[in-house]
Amino acid sequence: MIIKPVIEVAKAAMKKPTTVEFPEQKESLGDRYRGIHKLDMHTCINCSACARICPNQTITMVEAEEETAFHKGKEAKLFPEINLERCLFCALCEEVCPTDCLILTKDTSYEKFDRRDMIKRPEDLE
Ligand code: SF4
Ligand code: SF4
Repeated sequence: MIIKPVIEVAKAAMKKPTTVEFPEQKESLGDRYRGIHKLDMHTCINCSACARICPNQTITMVEAEEETAFHKGKEAKLFPEINLERCLFCALCEEVCPTDCLILTKDTSYEKFDRRDMIKRPEDLE
């Protein structure tokens, strides 16, 4: 009777830990895992479709300077700024983007100590 729990405890003690030493070690994530956005400001046409479709008001269109496909010469235009704290990683913004300039990458290293760093300006997303 007593032997069974002893065996279970011994088995548990022999197992590898299920946690990793973050941030030095990271879990490998599945192929379909979605990470931080990437924006090509040059091909963005400033249409705001990404901001309008976002179900969690994650995207704010903010002014930034860039020479775009439609506007030659450096000029302040509206580009998406992403608040990663609010993002659901649903990829609707990627789907709706008419020029495929906004995509979700496999980069999941966006953990920060200061929550203000979770807001990504257009330049940070390039
Ligand atoms: S992935 Fe979804 S929640 Fe995140 S910014 Fe895009 S539309 Fe919004
Ligand atoms: S990222 Fe795409 S959907 Fe968003 S403003 Fe630029 S072109 Fe439009």
